[in-house]
Amino acid sequence: MSYFEELGLAQPILKALANSGYDTPTPIQTQAIPPLLEGRDLCGVAQTGTGKTAAFALPSLHRFATDIKPRPLGGCRMLVLSPTRELAAQIAEKFRDYGKYLGLNIQCVFGGMPIYSQKKKLQSGADILVATPGRLLDLIEQRAVTLKDVEIFVLDEADQMMDLGFIQALKRIDLLLPKQRQSLFFSATMPKAIAELGNRFLNNPVRVSVTPQATTAERVEQYVTFVTQGRKAGLAQLSLAG
Ligand code: AMP
Repeated sequence: MSYFEELGLAQPILKALANSGYDTPTPIQTQAIPPLLEGRDLCGVAQTGTGKTAAFALPSLHRFATDIKPRPLGGCRMLVLSPTRELAAQIAEKFRDYGKYLGLNIQCVFGGMPIYSQKKKLQSGADILVATPGRLLDLIEQRAVTLKDVEIFVLDEADQMMDLGFIQALKRIDLLLPKQRQSLFFSATMPKAIAELGNRFLNNPVRVSVTPQATTAERVEQYVTFVTQGRKAGLAQLSLAG
């Protein structure tokens, strides 16, 4: 029995995983999937390449397999926010792979594409919507989508979101989400500002980490020298030369 079977993931998901050739979970999957299946919120420190997409996609897809509901008109049951169009498209593709036997409606919207066709696709509602924050807000303003039915919310790559200046957009989206929901928050690094952003979204989260909080470059030697102000410039030059 594979680990994914032991977790009790629904058969259609196991079948899709077998197709992908996955039998051993990555560390983030081992840590995240059990609490997510219990419905807990999660704060994850993990980079792309760790298998984090499956870590949040698989338990969410399990909920879709076991708690079947009609698609909310003009809304979605799950919202995944991603900072870039490339990442958003990759996430949607993974959801389509892992969920291919579940018959779900998975939509992906981002800027730089005509908004009209995206509005049309969202009219009848989606099970899962993957979006970049700016385009999502445009669609909300144009009344093409509402967030009032979101049951699961994922904020991916939070540090990139901050770097790209999405903070105000994220705060606005936060106000539009239902209070009663499961929230997942991922970032490659977790400095204070990002942790504070996470606290807005999360409720008593499980914390998982597959990288140290902040690492220094391994090949850079670091040391402390105490000097008076007058000698500082000379010493800095000396260490650069050395
Ligand atoms: P991610 O960090 O989500 O971008 O995933 C990195 C890569 O690992 C992707 O190509 C996934 O398809 C792959 N992957 C995710 N989970 C597993 C697993 N349990 N076994 C093998 N490959 C995996």
